[in-house]
Amino acid sequence: MKLVLLGPPGAGKGTQAKRLEELRGLKQLSTGDMLRAAAAAGTPLGLQAKQVMEAGQLVRDDLMVALIEERIAQADCAKGFILDGFPRTVQQAEALDAMLAASGRGGIDLVIELAVDEPALIERIAGRYSCAKCGAGYHDKFKQPKVPGVCDRCGSTEFVRRPDDRAEAVAVRLEAYRKQTAPILPYYRARGLLRSVDGMAPPEEVAAAIDKLLDEA
Ligand SMILES: [Zn+2]
Repeated sequence: MKLVLLGPPGAGKGTQAKRLEELRGLKQLSTGDMLRAAAAAGTPLGLQAKQVMEAGQLVRDDLMVALIEERIAQADCAKGFILDGFPRTVQQAEALDAMLAASGRGGIDLVIELAVDEPALIERIAGRYSCAKCGAGYHDKFKQPKVPGVCDRCGSTEFVRRPDDRAEAVAVRLEAYRKQTAPILPYYRARGLLRSVDGMAPPEEVAAAIDKLLDEA
């Protein structure tokens, strides 16, 4: 199974990918992890990538595709893989398809998009805060402490919010994601590979919907 998983930050993509790794043996391959691993392993491609990254430049598509080719040939990808963060442009999608075809693997089998309602997702993320002392997690709307202002677990009255969780910061990340993925959605839709799952549903429902799509594919 050669899967591309798309979803904005906060949509639970990591949770779903981890589950597919454990249950189906599909290896999650994120661009950043692949680059770091190849650089650390010191393969010729890895060293090239390392130079490019150290120079603060973007890794070229052909180099990234070559790294993916090297990576998916490894034993832990025998049952398949989940690409996360690649492709992001039509050129990358085409290069990926060309490489898979040339290596006799056939193309991508399925592209699953975790679709979100942006205002609801912003509310979900921006409402999060946690106890400064014990780290217990709370939410303005969905999970307040039983006694207002007092941590259920440790009794502390100090709480913290991550700057990354501010509504404006979340909105910026969502917009960046939309811009990045917008070009490749039509590419995969035109090939009949794109499926959408409601990413706002509870994680176990999202998992069930993904399972159904994988079983049908
Ligand atoms: Zn606490």
